[in-house]
Amino acid sequence: MMELLTQLWTPEVKMAVMAVLAVLVILYALCIVWVVRDAYMRGARWYLWAVVAIVPVLGPIVYSIMRPPLMQMDRNEQELEIALKQRQLMKYGECGSCGYPVEADYVLCPQCHTQLKNLCARCDRALDPAWTVCPFCATPVAPAGERRAVRRRAAAAAVEGANNPRAEFASEE
Ligand SMILES: [Zn+2]
Ligand SMILES: [Zn+2]
Repeated sequence: MMELLTQLWTPEVKMAVMAVLAVLVILYALCIVWVVRDAYMRGARWYLWAVVAIVPVLGPIVYSIMRPPLMQMDRNEQELEIALKQRQLMKYGECGSCGYPVEADYVLCPQCHTQLKNLCARCDRALDPAWTVCPFCATPVAPAGERRAVRRRAAAAAVEGANNPRAEFASEE
């Protein structure tokens, strides 16, 4: 048996085995380099993954299973995109009752005339229904129930105020 092995262990076979070993060593090194590079680009702790990658075969496999799913650059881009979309949504929305596309500062839906925004009683700017204070002039916004009364009162005051200054309180219920 030993004789057979020494007979087979020719310089050619030795060369071939050495070549295979060299390729394996290069592959091993490349695997570590790939893991470190990939972990770095994905924003993971690359120095920890480098230690894992030192384990031959198993290390890179474990890394490819457990690596973070997104590249750091992609993630930044995605965050930017989400932020941009949110800003666009803030600028453009759709009418709650008919779905018509409306811009953020529309007060009425141009199609179905639904009230989309409230107007500040003091500076007349469009206010989001969720706001409790006017961000332009710091006037507190009345809660939803009171709003209609306030608007009616303001309108009445504007109309009647010209004729009779004391009429302002007449329209209160
Ligand atoms: Zn509408
Ligand atoms: Zn205001």
